[in-house]
Amino acid sequence: MSRASLPSPVHKIRKKVIRRVLGEFARGVDVRASFEGQLNRFFVLLDQALSSGDPAWLDSIIYDWVNSATQTDLEEGHKNASLLITALFTATSETARDTLAKGEALDLILTVQPYFTYALDKAARLELENRLTYFTNEIANVRQQLERLDRSKSNFISVAAHELKTPLTLIEGYTAMLGDVISAAGTDAHVHTLLRGIRIGSERLQQIVDDMIDISLIDNNMLSLNLQPLWIGYILELLRKNLLETVESRHLTLEIREFLGSKTRLYGDPERLYQAFYNVLTNAIKYTPDGGSIVIDGRSLPGFVEVTITDTGIGISPEDQELIFEKFGRLGRADLHSSSKLKFKGGGPGLGLSITRGIIEAHGGTIWVESEGYDEVRCPGSTFHILLPLRNEAVDSRLVKLFQEPDPTNQETDVQKETQTDSPSS
Ligand code: ADP
Repeated sequence: MSRASLPSPVHKIRKKVIRRVLGEFARGVDVRASFEGQLNRFFVLLDQALSSGDPAWLDSIIYDWVNSATQTDLEEGHKNASLLITALFTATSETARDTLAKGEALDLILTVQPYFTYALDKAARLELENRLTYFTNEIANVRQQLERLDRSKSNFISVAAHELKTPLTLIEGYTAMLGDVISAAGTDAHVHTLLRGIRIGSERLQQIVDDMIDISLIDNNMLSLNLQPLWIGYILELLRKNLLETVESRHLTLEIREFLGSKTRLYGDPERLYQAFYNVLTNAIKYTPDGGSIVIDGRSLPGFVEVTITDTGIGISPEDQELIFEKFGRLGRADLHSSSKLKFKGGGPGLGLSITRGIIEAHGGTIWVESEGYDEVRCPGSTFHILLPLRNEAVDSRLVKLFQEPDPTNQETDVQKETQTDSPSS
């Protein structure tokens, strides 16, 4: 910036400019005195900037003004420092025009303008940075609060589940004893029906409590896996057998296709994977109207096996496709809750898919859903994809020996290997 001639012509109008700005901004005697001091300091620094040609002389007062912003200013985006600098420039120009000769006024305005532009630019940038920092901190605070909330929710689930488990065990024990007494006494069939009702109810409650415990294990990264060699095809076959009655009672067709990978040996926790596939498959049954079909298929990918479970059910709208994997992420009506587990649309507490995702992710896999949308009339269906990594090692070395691969010099194709050596029945 060019050096201004000394002494600065700003001196001549400084007092009037300060008076104008004070009138515009400062209310109250106390505020006025301190504000006047600051404006005087600004002009001293402007003088120094003009005489040295270096606008950076203004930096200190710009920082002070920007940093004096209150929380409300930051929240509401008040640009106080920028506003003040603009007002100072306007007052300087107007006072120059009112008090100085035309040429002198023009000279002064042109001289000070680059310094005010510098100050305004700097103030605006700093104010923006401050606001960004403020919001970044706010977001971090909110995230912390949410995490705390989630932790207390998960603690609550864990405590509630463990507290419920003890009385539930008592109910189950006494129901069993009552059953024995009733059988021995040859009581009439009606009493047996009532007893059966109690048993079904407590089994369902036990299932919910177990789900709550699983959720808290997953939330606290405490789900431990008992890794063993397994074949996905075997788990799926077991599921078909166990769910056959339900599938038939709902007049559904369940097809489990042979796919490349279904007979490939991988390491995983068979019980947990059974639970994960059970949840997805029972959902497919629950959310498909009677007469519909469910197809389980899959493929082998480099390093992974993918299993797909496709139903001709009511579908899931795109905005809910992530939400359903959250705990309590059930959709639809709460009044369907207590209905039978496998009845059409018989809702549960909304923990199943969250547990499933926890199990799959603990195996290093991933799960997602694809569906055109939710439509109970058209039934566009849903496809759940489960991707599981092909682990090469069992945790326990004795298991490795037990399930050693066949002679590596025996060059078979993958398909041959699958159908011959890795079959669960082999
Ligand atoms: P729930 O106990 O309610 O079945 P889940 O976690 O298993 O809980 O499922 C969450 C929600 O996802 C369900 O309430 C349902 O709305 C939706 N959902 C899950 N699977 C399907 C499916 N195959 N078709 C349609 N909706 C589904």
